[in-house]
Amino acid sequence: MNFGKPIYVAPGIYQLRAIGARVTVLLGDDGAALVDSGGPGSFGVIASGLKRLGISLGQVRWIFLTHYHPDHSGNLGRLAQETGAKVAMHKEEWPQLSGERLATSPFRNAVIAGLTDPIVRRMYDNPPNADMLLEDGDELALDGQRKLQVVHTPGHTLGSISLFALPQKVLIVGDALQYRFGKIAPPAAGVTQDSAQAMQSVGKLMALDFEAICFSHFPPIRNGAREALRRRFPEA
Ligand SMILES: [Zn+2]
Ligand SMILES: [Zn+2]
Repeated sequence: MNFGKPIYVAPGIYQLRAIGARVTVLLGDDGAALVDSGGPGSFGVIASGLKRLGISLGQVRWIFLTHYHPDHSGNLGRLAQETGAKVAMHKEEWPQLSGERLATSPFRNAVIAGLTDPIVRRMYDNPPNADMLLEDGDELALDGQRKLQVVHTPGHTLGSISLFALPQKVLIVGDALQYRFGKIAPPAAGVTQDSAQAMQSVGKLMALDFEAICFSHFPPIRNGAREALRRRFPEA
């Protein structure tokens, strides 16, 4: 696996394979935004990936988190500190990362949750303060042309979000969808808080006019992604 090598998605949008979840990079005229921070120990591969894209750490303006799971957030403290970027997350999700609310185990099975709890807790990386708490429908301009729309897609976790990048029409879904063996699938039940709600969120995503999907643990679909999702879930 080639960690840190940028994977092209669409003009100005790349993914980096970090330790844990992938990090999506959105380039703007005025710097870059990252979606998710990777898991603990990801800092070096992200820094090297950004360098290959011609981005310095100081040019990272925003870090958006799709949800609090440690494979997405475990590198947040270091990344925010080294870049000086602002941190944004859904308002329902932040209290679990900040420690205001006890973070629910990612695992649904009580025995697995109990066994892994001490390890999982150590993976949350003393996050900085959130600079912006997000809600469904929020829009954030990356520059004069490029923007991100926040889509609340609960189910995998209560405050999971997807981000819709325009004008490229790229949907960044975090763990709201999987793409296993060339097939789109709902989030894995064993690590999903509410599978029925996750399916409702899939229906919500289908209302958007997207061309590509960035997943967190699978390669992107660059073209015809909305059609592929409709074919896969005709009832949603
Ligand atoms: Zn994940
Ligand atoms: Zn997750």
